[in-house]
Amino acid sequence: MKAEIMAVGTELLLGDILNTNAQYLSKQLALLGIEVYYQTVVGDNAKRLLGAFELAFKRADIVIATGGLGPTDDDITKEIGGKYFGLEMIENEEAIKNVEDYYKDREMPESNRKQGFVPKGSKVFYNHNGTAPGCMIEKDGKILIMLPGPPYETQPMFEEYVIPFLKEKSDFTIESKVLHLSGIGESKAAEAVADIMNESENPTVAPYAKPNEMIFRISAKGENEEKAKEIMKPVIDEIYKRLGKYIYGEDNTTLEEAVIKRLEEKSFSIATAESCTGGLIAGKIVDYPGASKVFIDGVVSYSNESKVKRLGVRKETLEKYGAVSEQTAKEMAEGVVKALGADVGISSTGVAGPDGGTEEKPVGLVYIAVCVEGVTTVRKLNLKGERNRIRGRVVTEALNLALEVI
Ligand code: ATP
Ligand code: MG
Repeated sequence: MKAEIMAVGTELLLGDILNTNAQYLSKQLALLGIEVYYQTVVGDNAKRLLGAFELAFKRADIVIATGGLGPTDDDITKEIGGKYFGLEMIENEEAIKNVEDYYKDREMPESNRKQGFVPKGSKVFYNHNGTAPGCMIEKDGKILIMLPGPPYETQPMFEEYVIPFLKEKSDFTIESKVLHLSGIGESKAAEAVADIMNESENPTVAPYAKPNEMIFRISAKGENEEKAKEIMKPVIDEIYKRLGKYIYGEDNTTLEEAVIKRLEEKSFSIATAESCTGGLIAGKIVDYPGASKVFIDGVVSYSNESKVKRLGVRKETLEKYGAVSEQTAKEMAEGVVKALGADVGISSTGVAGPDGGTEEKPVGLVYIAVCVEGVTTVRKLNLKGERNRIRGRVVTEALNLALEVI
């Protein structure tokens, strides 16, 4: 089965929005074992859209279109999709219900009635996150799937309706598992499992290095989900055997989630004391929905005065070693623990640049510290790049360190 992705919208061609739907859909289809040879972008123009469908169906069995399902005059995807298959537009009960449900507490604009129309014989996809129902036409061995444009509508609809449908169609399925590692460099991790990566064809093992994070994706092809999982299992077990102590989570886990879970396990609370990251570490922790169980407070302490006043860093420490030093980082982490009554304190202090670097303390020199029940671990970082890249990396490094020591 070959698929083509068709993003519809003049906004995309003008560069006003980025075609993230194509990325999302390509990734999903790859996971399903469906090949994508072309991604197309076409404006909201009836003639060109029809031409794009004609071309796409010459080279693909399935076309997945996103965008242009809305109520306005330039939303024409469903009409043109229907036209390609020679289908008239008819009012569909389910589609009408979708629109009415969305407006049940408000008055529905008249233009929204249009969304109750779909090409005759389509299967309707209910939209739980917006007004535009999606739909699918299956005719003469070709399949056209039309999804709304906004990613928060596209993705849930794809997951609810399209994945089960495509799994059913496909002769085999691809399952994958992602392992997240921290505290080990990419090359060292890859070296530890090099033989598996080279020799194993099904499942495949591929490493990915994100900034400060190491990921292994294990993918297996099998007749069905169960078989594919069976094929993966021995390889996953072997990777755990070799690198288990660095693996902090699977699949969609994030570093902040892993840190929060670890804190919860130990019934620890956490507070942050941030200089160069200016609240980014606290922000990252709060990104996780369950943060309130462990996160007490965060202090953004930028000036020396504040470090003394709010965190109890000693004046002598600042005078003798400077704000960017191992000693200051340590006292910040310990100080925030004391000031806020937390079990764990995380701190950051560094030179994020572009100015302010000296020979002794260049841009990118950062100290992070984690204090756990009175024991403090400080790490010195020498980071490269521009200001925000450095600050972002400090956040990951700090969470990494927290995972190591908590
Ligand atoms: P609506 O009912 O919101 O009008 P629609 O299905 O008609 O939805 P469009 O009007 O084409 O979709 O796009 C609406 C918004 O969805 C765009 O402004 C953009 O924010 C987002 N969007 C559309 N297409 C894409 C895409 N390919 N990638 C990422 N975002 C997109
Ligand atoms: Mg629209």
